[in-house]
Amino acid sequence: MALPSADTVVDYPRGAVESDGTVVHVADGPGDLVAVLLDRTAFHPVDAHWPDQPADRGVLEVAVPGGPALPVIDAVVAATDGETLFLGGDVPVRTGTEGWVFSVAHLVPAGTVIAEGDRVRVIVDADHRAALSIGHTACHLASLALDRALSDAWGKPVPGDALGAPGFDAQAIETSTILERGSRDVYRIGKSLRRKGFDPAAFDDPVAVAGRVNAILGEWTASGASVRVDASEPGLSARRSWVCDLPEGEARIPCGGTHATGLADLGTVSVSFETEDVPGARRVVMTTTAG
Ligand SMILES: [Zn+2]
Repeated sequence: MALPSADTVVDYPRGAVESDGTVVHVADGPGDLVAVLLDRTAFHPVDAHWPDQPADRGVLEVAVPGGPALPVIDAVVAATDGETLFLGGDVPVRTGTEGWVFSVAHLVPAGTVIAEGDRVRVIVDADHRAALSIGHTACHLASLALDRALSDAWGKPVPGDALGAPGFDAQAIETSTILERGSRDVYRIGKSLRRKGFDPAAFDDPVAVAGRVNAILGEWTASGASVRVDASEPGLSARRSWVCDLPEGEARIPCGGTHATGLADLGTVSVSFETEDVPGARRVVMTTTAG
């Protein structure tokens, strides 16, 4: 069976939760799973290298008489150089690398009848998607509010964020996890951040930092600013950006996830911090909740 020769067209960046497509390849997946690759899908896969937003939940309806609805157990990025197909964590290159083709691999239970050429309808759990989209938009908003709240803690210039504030989030982020209606971001304030001019004493009073961040978030959500995802092309590996028309100006952040269509969908957004001193560094966990 031929490997895919073009990226999967993805409908999730514009918010779609259903799509119709054709099976272009079926491969053995991890464990007892089979990887189904379609020419087009609304199903958001987890990214191999920046796995912040988890995969959608949902089913593939195989459009043959009496065709089954196959549960999608997981969805990952697949990549091929034309000779080998790599799945998920085995993909050796970043999504978008020249000369590679990237696909959404829908992992379904083995033993199900599905073959190249089958027409398939993708149906995503819309409530789960909506909760993750709200969580992802809240995550970006909180990162911008955090950068702004910490702008006085820098003694040297560092690259600015999407609104021009010193980019604490970009400099200090370790991991980011999108949750339903929220997110959890882990930051590390160590030697390299101190050398770049960041004063760790800024987190001596995390409750005060949260107060400043939450005041900024309150102003922004009250604006009801619109949110959209811009894509350079319809394929999985296209460059995409989260764009939010905040009162301070348009904020644009590279992002492959899904999002709310406006800040009015978020309700109240607030953050809290936990700090922990680890060898040579202070670890800060920001938990963001929306609603
Ligand atoms: Zn994002």
